[in-house]
Amino acid sequence: MLGRMMDMPLTITHLLRRAASYHAHREIVSVRPDKSRVRTTYGDLATRSARLANALTKLGVKPGDRVGTLAWNHHQHLECYYGVPAMGAIVHTLNIRLAPAEIGYIANHAGDSVIVVDQSLWPLFEKFRASVTSLQHVMVVRDKNEPLPPGTLDYDAVLAEASPDFAWPELPENTGAMICYTSGTTGNPKGALYSHRSTVLHALTASLPDVIGFAMSDVVLPVVPMFHASGWGLPYAAVLVGAKLVLPGPHLDPTSLLDLMQQEKVTVAGGVPTIWLGILALLDAEPKRWDLSSVRTMAIGGSAAPPALIDGFRVRHGLSVTHAWGMTETNPVGTVARVKPHLEADVEAAKALRATQGLALPFVETRHVDDTGRLLPWDNQAVGELEVRGPWVSASYLKDEDAHRWTADGWFKTGDVVTICAEGYVRITDRAKDVIKSGGEWISSVALENALMAHPAIAEAAVFAAAHPKWSERPVAAIVTKPGASATDDELRAHLATQFPSMYLPDAYVRLEQIPRGSTGKFLKTKLREQYGNILLG
Ligand code: AMP
Repeated sequence: MLGRMMDMPLTITHLLRRAASYHAHREIVSVRPDKSRVRTTYGDLATRSARLANALTKLGVKPGDRVGTLAWNHHQHLECYYGVPAMGAIVHTLNIRLAPAEIGYIANHAGDSVIVVDQSLWPLFEKFRASVTSLQHVMVVRDKNEPLPPGTLDYDAVLAEASPDFAWPELPENTGAMICYTSGTTGNPKGALYSHRSTVLHALTASLPDVIGFAMSDVVLPVVPMFHASGWGLPYAAVLVGAKLVLPGPHLDPTSLLDLMQQEKVTVAGGVPTIWLGILALLDAEPKRWDLSSVRTMAIGGSAAPPALIDGFRVRHGLSVTHAWGMTETNPVGTVARVKPHLEADVEAAKALRATQGLALPFVETRHVDDTGRLLPWDNQAVGELEVRGPWVSASYLKDEDAHRWTADGWFKTGDVVTICAEGYVRITDRAKDVIKSGGEWISSVALENALMAHPAIAEAAVFAAAHPKWSERPVAAIVTKPGASATDDELRAHLATQFPSMYLPDAYVRLEQIPRGSTGKFLKTKLREQYGNILLG
């Protein structure tokens, strides 16, 4: 027998309506490239999202169409987070840290017809713009006092001319809302398409006190870029509860962030370990310079937060860290490391638990399996691949690529290698995927290998992840030169620098007679990691 309750869809549109009705005066602070701060409100978010929907409709955007963004964290990006999904279209956040050719591939693959670009990111946009065949209109967010590039629309001017009323459609909750691509797979990036329902349920669950915890009284600072897995859901959770939002623009250096945290009285911030390592070092050097008494917790994820980082904040600065694990495909938080009350007493054990990936969020389920897919016991010993399922976990990639990442019984294979203890804490011990994550950003080893093998002196190249104290991982290239040929590190670096951002360039080159291979002839990067994975730690 069916329950007799209303089947009201869970949509982002409701969050927008709620923001306008209940939190219209709550502030959104955006930092511009020149460091000036723009102050808008949730009331503005609601009317400007409606203006955006009207403007996009006029440009021909229809439900289901993709609208790309190439932008830092600021109120205009937030308007795209709300206005585009609420009109039934799909916002597609492009990762500015990828190589231009990759961004072009991704924008094309998603079929973006409009792209909203920060003027300060125009030089990057120009590098891939021509490759996006689906592109019809470019809207530029003016963050510099310079004339706009010809043939583009001024985002703010277009909004000013559009009507502030839009008849938001009643959308089914499974309507697509946002696309985010991940480069954390081998081969080309893969698209995850989030639904309204998954976004809303995640925001609600993330707000529970034992997850990240958000309240009306909070001041939320998403340091994590909004082009990463819906900014970890922070821009949705903050609006859901009516918290003040602080959007840092391009200023992600420790001093700017600490100034912002103090001046805007931030209570919750979220970012990758590399950011917090820099902040901890600065606080250690100048412990009295900032008053951070407003800060309730800092959510750290995207890569493993080292125990020394978590404890350094806690012991030396009285600041709490919430360590969370997630993926683009788990839009975005899957587990969070909260210590259960009965485990607090053992101080050392509690410290170790805070550095695990933690417990599955309500509605998310975790399990781990061996190479044959056999379920492993939660005994803190058995090592296997983590599999997850839940209402905000992707059920497939766009165009059904890499379908092998899902099990026959509907679980997603994360590629993370873990143990799980009897209490349910997940601990990552390794990674099954051959990928490199540096400072929270994926670096495509395949793209680097192809470019290296195009160098006249190189016969073979394999790029693998080496451990790094600041960036978690950095790429290292194992190379085999052609007989009689040679290339210095500087020559190889210069060769790659023409195609990749500096962040992609390998930190070291290991010269080998032959690259180790597995039985199928594929490069054995596990072997390279075993042998050379620590060469950057010396
Ligand atoms: P992304 O899709 O870019 O969010 O990357 C997801 C991957 O980042 C995961 O599969 C992990 O390999 C890694 N990751 C994310 N959070 C953590 C964490 N807290 N600890 C260790 N690895 C993490």
